[in-house]
Amino acid sequence: MKLLSVIVPCFNEEENVPYFYEEFKKNEGFLQEKEIDWEILYVDDGSKDNTAQEAKKLHNQDDRVHLLSFSRNFGKEAAMYAGLHKSKGDYVVIMDADLQDPPSLLPEMFQYIEQGYDSVATRRVSRKGEPPVRSFFARMFYRLMKRISKTEMMDGARDYRLMTRQMVNAILEMKEYNRFTKGIFGWVGFRTKWIEFENVERIKGETKWNFWKLLVYSLDGITAFSTAPLSFAAVLGVLFCILAIILIIFIVIRTLLFGDPVSGWPSMVCIISMISGVQLFCLGIVGQYLAKTYMEVKRRPIYLLKEEV
Ligand code: UDP
Ligand code: MG
Repeated sequence: MKLLSVIVPCFNEEENVPYFYEEFKKNEGFLQEKEIDWEILYVDDGSKDNTAQEAKKLHNQDDRVHLLSFSRNFGKEAAMYAGLHKSKGDYVVIMDADLQDPPSLLPEMFQYIEQGYDSVATRRVSRKGEPPVRSFFARMFYRLMKRISKTEMMDGARDYRLMTRQMVNAILEMKEYNRFTKGIFGWVGFRTKWIEFENVERIKGETKWNFWKLLVYSLDGITAFSTAPLSFAAVLGVLFCILAIILIIFIVIRTLLFGDPVSGWPSMVCIISMISGVQLFCLGIVGQYLAKTYMEVKRRPIYLLKEEV
């Protein structure tokens, strides 16, 4: 018998934990046919509600349900890493607790694994039910990433993915602290089949992401998988040097031809403010990378467990 590990990151999802279990179990017949055993790993990411208790209740009924409880909220990235770390399955799948990643796609995903793919990833074709501003910036982010990063990242990609043990081990090799899983999946490579589905709205509770958090997350993604902003700063520096040389030549010639009437103070002020702005901006870019490096060299653990059931 092969084993399928299902990783479910949960942050304040008490209502969804039992619901997810019921929905997932609808695949039981299909998994039995394929002779695949399964386990569910709920990763309680420092929830303030009864998420852990709900998972324990399920564990008492069914010993295929496990729980990892964090000492505080470490974020979904850490929850996914912990799940992958503790999973034992020959196949591993990551799914949201809110059923926005429909378990009914599993049979189709397994078909592709049988055809020899190492991973089957999912993406939403529509962003129905999402605020238009959020969709717009999400699209922009993926278009930008396509240009500035060598790592493949699909627009609308979810973290919902079925993987073989080999790929999971490759992902676990990446022990970085600033995790951006969407990029990590692409970075490790392997043969991936993309399947598409219509966006599903979450069953209960509310989303943990607001616009600001997503913006910060996207900046994490950029610094983690591209150094293009650093080159951009350098290029900007060169451009301003060229501009300065042209200006110097222009002013020298003008002074030689027309003498030196004291003028140009307003333009001087504009130029100084513009250039100091650009300098601070570039310094900020360098600072971002430095900050990430600083966090990385501290070698802090990605997650801390309080309880394991
Ligand atoms: N989640 C988590 N830790 C967090 C935030 C979210 O484990 O700090 C989990 C959450 O419980 C859910 C999944 O990540 O299972 C996706 O979160 P959410 O549904 O809020 O995001 P959305 O689907 O709106 O992008
Ligand atoms: Mg969701």
